[in-house]
Amino acid sequence: MKILVINTGSSSIKYRLFDMAGNLVLASGVLERIGEETSALTATFLRDGEVRQKSGERLAPDHRSGMRLVADALTDPETGVLTAASEVEAVGHRVVHGGEDFVRPAIIDGRVIEAIKRNFALAPLHNPVNLVGIEVAMSVFDKAVHVAVFDTAFHQTMPARAFRYALPPELYIEFGIRRYGFHGSSHGHVSELAARMLGKKPDEVSLITIHLGNGASMAAIKKGKCIDTSMGMTPLEGLVMGTRSGDVDPSIVFHLASNAGMGLDEINDALNKRSGLKGLCGENDVREILARKAKGDGDAALALEVYAYRVKKYIGAYMAALGGADAVVFTAGIGENSPEIRAACLEGLECLGLELDREKNEKPGHEAREISSPASRVKALVIPTNEELEIARKTHEALSPDERSRL
Ligand code: ADP
Repeated sequence: MKILVINTGSSSIKYRLFDMAGNLVLASGVLERIGEETSALTATFLRDGEVRQKSGERLAPDHRSGMRLVADALTDPETGVLTAASEVEAVGHRVVHGGEDFVRPAIIDGRVIEAIKRNFALAPLHNPVNLVGIEVAMSVFDKAVHVAVFDTAFHQTMPARAFRYALPPELYIEFGIRRYGFHGSSHGHVSELAARMLGKKPDEVSLITIHLGNGASMAAIKKGKCIDTSMGMTPLEGLVMGTRSGDVDPSIVFHLASNAGMGLDEINDALNKRSGLKGLCGENDVREILARKAKGDGDAALALEVYAYRVKKYIGAYMAALGGADAVVFTAGIGENSPEIRAACLEGLECLGLELDREKNEKPGHEAREISSPASRVKALVIPTNEELEIARKTHEALSPDERSRL
């Protein structure tokens, strides 16, 4: 079965085509700068067993024409891997916010579209463009079954004590103000692989998953179910991120409005786009920050210290919430690639039974691996995430007769 995974952003469409039977990625790509004078399409495709790439400028004044370009790239004589778009049997769409409506993926119909719309207010930057992606893909890939896979769904198992804020109940009831959590496909993917690495079933282990990419979040997972996560009603809460502040005293917002003459939009922009690592040292690419630190740059060193300290505090909190964990799992760009950040996050956690093996941690690699010492009671693992594959698998599962009967 051929499944196309689509991630639509405000000015981009990312896609990846899987052949589920052969466990193969047949093609992938990204169309950027939709709506601008010229857009850029980079298509990667498998040809005669080799991975090839072609980039070029295209005209995509809107998402509809953009989706057509994606379909064309998949069927084009040079870059294509299909003879017709109708060979795509299912399309899995990443949808950022499922609110409380979705605890699992959903085959898209009128009711699902209405529910995605209901959640617009919770993710105004993401859900409307995700829906545009769905609507245009449904017309371009009109023979396929379309499935929505929500970033929030994995976290819907949290108990009320973790998802409720200490706010008046009407704010929850009327406005949906609660913790939802994001990066669900990543936390779900690596937690399943971690259980396998530990030789156990997902419902036999307690895990702390640590997704450190440009966005960053952690999850406490007990017996395969999320019981807490660091992102909140929006992806702004929790860890220090590339450009997002993560946890701050909410009074800062009022203080800035009253004393710094900043408007709400400006504060929102500052917390989301000009804070985090970028705010602390002017840079959000961790490779650059590490290089600057190595040259003795104090701002870079402090930024990384604040970053790692926040992760460490959350590890302590989640150890307590879980009553102990079998493993902590690092994933995403920084978690998979930076031994220095991993070591800083785990420094001093021997008191919790977590002991890093320096040599294993330093060893570069792209495969899932253990980096704790043999004596460590809690294992430390590095597991590459693959959100697109997880979305493809969830889409596949949603089509099975078993799953359909539950919908
Ligand atoms: P996104 O959230 O955009 O998917 P990624 O998961 O790709 O982000 O992670 C991006 C981050 O990973 C960047 O901060 C980048 O600097 C960092 N990164 C990538 N490779 C390395 C590396 N070898 N060492 C340190 N950081 C790295």
